[in-house]
Amino acid sequence: MNVQYNLEQIEKQLKTHCEKGNISTLPNVIAVTKYVTIDRANDAYHAGIRHFGENRLEGFQLKKEALPDDIVMHFIGSLQTRKVKEVINEIDYFHALDRLKLAKEINKRAEHKIKCFVQVNVSGEESKQGVALEDVNTFIETLEKYENLEVVGLMTMAPLTDDESYIKSLFQSLRNKRDEIKALNLNYAPCTELSMGMSNDFHLAAEEGASFVRIGTKLVGKEE
Ligand SMILES: *Cc1c(COP(=O)(O)O)cnc(C)c1O
Repeated sequence: MNVQYNLEQIEKQLKTHCEKGNISTLPNVIAVTKYVTIDRANDAYHAGIRHFGENRLEGFQLKKEALPDDIVMHFIGSLQTRKVKEVINEIDYFHALDRLKLAKEINKRAEHKIKCFVQVNVSGEESKQGVALEDVNTFIETLEKYENLEVVGLMTMAPLTDDESYIKSLFQSLRNKRDEIKALNLNYAPCTELSMGMSNDFHLAAEEGASFVRIGTKLVGKEE
């Protein structure tokens, strides 16, 4: 596993697919290190990665301790409300805001404004977390009273399927929703960002204008 090489390949693909989609700004690559050791996370750092993503409290604390201070930490997984206080002031972005109870707890525990992505279940699969696409506007409107939250964008996870045109259509729906919320000019929800695309579909997310792609397996690998 050569992280530097993987990153070069990923960046090449991002460039190709951004051009294909008429997108002028390449997405930021978040190295998702939840499957790997600190050593591998350090390889990513030395390859030039500064954005890191973890989805569990324990893994997050471990990597945050071990990596240099100039990293940007993304918490990408669902968070139990009772764990909010241990995480929320230590991260730069939270990608999985999907219920009011969580918003309320984050607001209560926050010592500064927390940058959040609202997680959206675009495909409507029962097993997927996130706010239903048709409920996003209402959900975001109810966040206005939580002054320590800032909705910086929308996040989604596409289902595992080979049907690329279907995945693209989901990413496109999220992008349209992002544009719609952004146009409302809400000061508590600028909603300029799009967090979408993982190892299997980051190229499609790039075509649809992702600003953050979250890549684990194809960048740093997956250790059992
Ligand atoms: C694990 C995970 C990823 C990365 O998955 P890969 O398929 O290994 O790239 C991205 N986003 C979220 C929310 C994850 O939980």
